[in-house]
Amino acid sequence: MTRVLLATRNQKKLVELRRILAAEGVTGVEVIGLADVPEFPEAPETGATFEENAVAKAVDAAKATGLPAIADDSGIAVDALNGMPGVLSARWSGKHGDDQANLDLLLGQLADVPDERRGAAFVSASALVLPDGAETVVRGEWRGTVIREERGANGFGYDPIFVPEGETRTSAELSPEEKDADSHRGRALRLLLPAIRELAG
Ligand code: IMP
Repeated sequence: MTRVLLATRNQKKLVELRRILAAEGVTGVEVIGLADVPEFPEAPETGATFEENAVAKAVDAAKATGLPAIADDSGIAVDALNGMPGVLSARWSGKHGDDQANLDLLLGQLADVPDERRGAAFVSASALVLPDGAETVVRGEWRGTVIREERGANGFGYDPIFVPEGETRTSAELSPEEKDADSHRGRALRLLLPAIRELAG
């Protein structure tokens, strides 16, 4: 069994990657998280792009542990805001990880933006970095529209105000399986599968 470190403390992300690997029939890889390895200093995310942040996190994790490491960085890019909040999505309101404050601020900013210009995309960059330094970086996007009021209790972050293309429900109204099948993170992780399969040998 090859151990792969997913550089996250988010249990949901661990479960999601394990679920995707199982669904795609990838065996021989055990996914562990940061809670399963000795602590190492985690640098703040200062990159200008999702890709830079994902690679930096995976490089740090691979160097510190000697394990192949996967890291992701994600956020929402709103057309009417020229792609912001982007890499600042998790700290848009000035308070890191305050999902409700971030969402409320975004809704306020878009109050006067008409329905036909409320396009956005969830974006996820995922990087796999091997102990020898080899890097694979991929990007998944999930386009949709930012609505005016929250709906749904699944998911997190901006899910309650995001209606994916081809849907009438918000991503917070989709089941976890429905979200994986289409989401930015699901798409990025599936693009990483060939590289992960190679690790499994
Ligand atoms: P991180 O990649 O864990 O740093 O998350 C970045 C931020 O982007 C999160 O705090 C959310 O605000 C937002 N975000 C990323 N992916 C999603 C998603 O699937 N749904 C809702 N919000 C998301």
